[in-house]
Amino acid sequence: MELLRELCNAHAVSGFEDEVREIMRREFEKSCDSVEIDSFGNVIATKGDGEKGIMLAAHMDEIGFMVKFINEKGFINFIKIGGIDDRLLINQRVVIRSKSGKIPGVIGSKPPHLQKEEEKKKIIRHDELFIDIGARNKKDAEKIVEVGDPIVFEPNFQKLNDKIFYGKAIDDRLGCYVLLRVMERIPSDIPIKIFAVGTTQEEVGLKGARVAAFRINPDCAFAIDTTIAGDTPMIKETESRLKIGNGPAITITEASGRGVVTHPKLREFMIRTAKRYKIPYQVDVLEGGMTDGAIIYLTREGVPTGVISIPCRYIHSPTGIFSIDDVNNAIKLLEKTIMDLNMEMNGLR
Ligand SMILES: [Zn+2]
Repeated sequence: MELLRELCNAHAVSGFEDEVREIMRREFEKSCDSVEIDSFGNVIATKGDGEKGIMLAAHMDEIGFMVKFINEKGFINFIKIGGIDDRLLINQRVVIRSKSGKIPGVIGSKPPHLQKEEEKKKIIRHDELFIDIGARNKKDAEKIVEVGDPIVFEPNFQKLNDKIFYGKAIDDRLGCYVLLRVMERIPSDIPIKIFAVGTTQEEVGLKGARVAAFRINPDCAFAIDTTIAGDTPMIKETESRLKIGNGPAITITEASGRGVVTHPKLREFMIRTAKRYKIPYQVDVLEGGMTDGAIIYLTREGVPTGVISIPCRYIHSPTGIFSIDDVNNAIKLLEKTIMDLNMEMNGLR
């Protein structure tokens, strides 16, 4: 659990993934044959050897913000990095990472006592909001914060009970954790080459996975990410049937077909593997949202790609909720899929 907590609490807005990258590098070095960082900041670990190669990808970056402007009074305006609902922002605690260290801040608001009737109904856009770091004025603020500094929601990893946890950035530190654990379990004499990649800048256009997949040129690939659980009062069964605790999701298609369309053979293979080893699973048909899989499968002449996702509640918010059973079953499903696929690599491509 400590490793998962460390991953979720790390600070890694898209393009500023170094804290997570260092954790990934440290852990991969314990279990893999080689670990390197490419020019885009992706961490690429390898294990095994052979003609064929499988790429595994989980993104290290998280949604967040960046300092855009510091006003005369020392309050900070910001831009959003990645998809965030403006309605979630008021009064959130955030952490700005600057040259001076980690600076805590609070996104301010106007107390209800002072709000006019029409103000109460209005959604306040992120560009009208500001971060309060307790500075007396601009000069004071500029001593510790600069324009361009990355910002995340305050780390808050916690247990709700034995199975259910919450935290910021579970999208996609859960996937990073799955990668690390799977690479520990794969034997070093596996007769294919496994490339585990902690990718950068997924939340802003699947960029790290694009360059890593080009370089690796794998025979097939798996992206490991989070997806939307539909088991809360606000979501209809027709929007998402996934439930936390019911197993990892095997994706059939993302973003109504604009994202990955999982290779039918891989899809069948994953489902067969889940059944063979009695691993609970769910099937995901996503109307919106995509993963690194969407870009990996378009690499070069095309790469058969599957996606395994962990259902989460309140994704892209300051606090997502997930079941640790789904994480452990995703590890099992990915490991068994790789081990069995190793025997059947021909015929996919
Ligand atoms: Zn994600």
